[in-house]
Amino acid sequence: MAEQEDVIELAKRRGFFFGANGAYGGVAGFYTYGPNGAAVKDNLESAWRDRFTVRQGNMEIEAPTIMPEAVFEASGHLDGFDDMLVECPECGASHRADHLIEDNTGIEEAESLPISEVEMIIRDHDLRCPSCDAPLGGEPVEDFNLMFETSIGPGSGQPGYMRPETAQGIFVEFPRLKEYARNRLPFGVTQIGPAYRNEISPRKGIIRVREFTQAELETFIDPEEDEPPLHEVEDVEVTLYPADEQEDEDGEAYTTTVGDAVDEGVIGSDWVGYYLGVAQEWYERVGVDMDRFRFRQHLPGELAHYAADCWDAESEVGGDWIEITGFAYRSDYDLTKHAEHSGESFTVFKQYDEPKTVERATVDPDMATLGPEFGGDAGAVAEALQTLAEREPDAFDAAEVEVEVDGETHTVDSDVANFSVEEVTENGEHITPHVVEPSFGIDRIVYTVIEHAYRSDEVDGEERTYLALDPEMAATDAAVFPLVSNDERLLDLSDEVTGDLRAAGLSVEYDDSGSIGRRYRRQDEVGTPFCVTVDRDGIEGDGPDTVTVRERDSARQVRVPVSEVADEIATLLDP
Ligand code: ATP
Repeated sequence: MAEQEDVIELAKRRGFFFGANGAYGGVAGFYTYGPNGAAVKDNLESAWRDRFTVRQGNMEIEAPTIMPEAVFEASGHLDGFDDMLVECPECGASHRADHLIEDNTGIEEAESLPISEVEMIIRDHDLRCPSCDAPLGGEPVEDFNLMFETSIGPGSGQPGYMRPETAQGIFVEFPRLKEYARNRLPFGVTQIGPAYRNEISPRKGIIRVREFTQAELETFIDPEEDEPPLHEVEDVEVTLYPADEQEDEDGEAYTTTVGDAVDEGVIGSDWVGYYLGVAQEWYERVGVDMDRFRFRQHLPGELAHYAADCWDAESEVGGDWIEITGFAYRSDYDLTKHAEHSGESFTVFKQYDEPKTVERATVDPDMATLGPEFGGDAGAVAEALQTLAEREPDAFDAAEVEVEVDGETHTVDSDVANFSVEEVTENGEHITPHVVEPSFGIDRIVYTVIEHAYRSDEVDGEERTYLALDPEMAATDAAVFPLVSNDERLLDLSDEVTGDLRAAGLSVEYDDSGSIGRRYRRQDEVGTPFCVTVDRDGIEGDGPDTVTVRERDSARQVRVPVSEVADEIATLLDP
């Protein structure tokens, strides 16, 4: 298995990714993708878009990355998007308290423990500062909000935040998006773009950074009616690590089918099960090693307060399991919160098949009595009475009812409210959709795909390193080398082959410098599936001109006529 340091070193040397702003000393948590990394990332995003937007028939949007404070007040991020911070009294380094505990005590999921318990564990285990070894027991642990704050406009401006997830950009636009979906559920909206989190301790290359890319799908459903097309994935095999197995000392992950896991209630939601199946096939497609991949269910303490069932896709990299995607049943939490805070409608009108006759409780308060007694509040009291009548009609059986207006409780004689029940015909109702969300972290998947493709072997008695990337992910489809750079005929033919390959839609790198062995090694390390070498043997015989095509993983070479090389490689890349 590849060491993480080797992968990170190769990534830097071969232009996949490296710490950003190096000329100025760099800032932790920010990475630049070099030409090869940017191409792999782009390929991964295209494969995601193909599977989760196009083939699912979803709509893709692109929302701003800076949003006003009100959005995050509503979403709960302002109050609750915190990690636990402990600062070293000696060297001033900041550490994530839960990571410190997990790395040094074997206690898992420390994130879900209360602060007082976290402080106690740090003290009892005599945990020390990883930077300078000073004891941290006795230091206060604090909640640290991960959002980057900014100011919108000149002067003191209006407070804004860099979005910590792309999802909110979809939720806040729901009132318009539902129109584009013609007010019909279910429908899905996707977005691929940057998210920002002021991580306390960024680490492990692009795995934990402060600016990263998410690809999220929000599926809006009617929880009472909409079913996912589970049959499409019911036979897909998945490795699951459910909560009860994690809690059991001898528990372990096991392989089953999506259909069985849903039937047996291991996966608590058909929709989540459906997306695990779709995602499983997608991960295989992009080259995640299935022996180093699993779906782990959140433990009860880990669940977000609104989430009914959550699973993480996890990959094993550098010997650790990391979360690469979260699958959450978010219920109607987000839309309800945005409706409450914005006053806009975040519902869709659900038409009944046939009109329904229903009983509706109404009040018709005697305003002459309500007026003088309640002063300016009379209208609001009348409204509150109506709401009470709809929610709790039985309350009007008592002689008096109580309603609250602006935090003040008013007592009203039931007689004054004139409560009655009448029959009305309804054609439909306004419902708040529920949301099912697969949330992919693109950078962690890029890293996984590279590490899982990292191989070493021996070719012609020499050790080599290569990336066995899936051709769909590789930065370059093919490289073209004239064997020597001082023979015009070879250079001309190399140009011709490069042109043919590019005309066939392939991305091609042309390289005529250095020994041929060095050129192969370079392409192997970048993961280029095919190298085409133009040599004299191929043009000096009587027959048509030929070139050699070398396949990356086997290092096997075959001679192919120049006129066929583009077709041949295009077919091999996309059989
Ligand atoms: P973690 O517990 O590792 O901090 P999270 O549970 O907060 O992650 P989510 O909020 O579920 O992550 O975000 C969805 C996805 O976004 C994650 O599965 C991950 O791939 C990615 N992600 C989250 N934080 C980061 C980060 N700091 N750097 C890179 N990717 C990230």
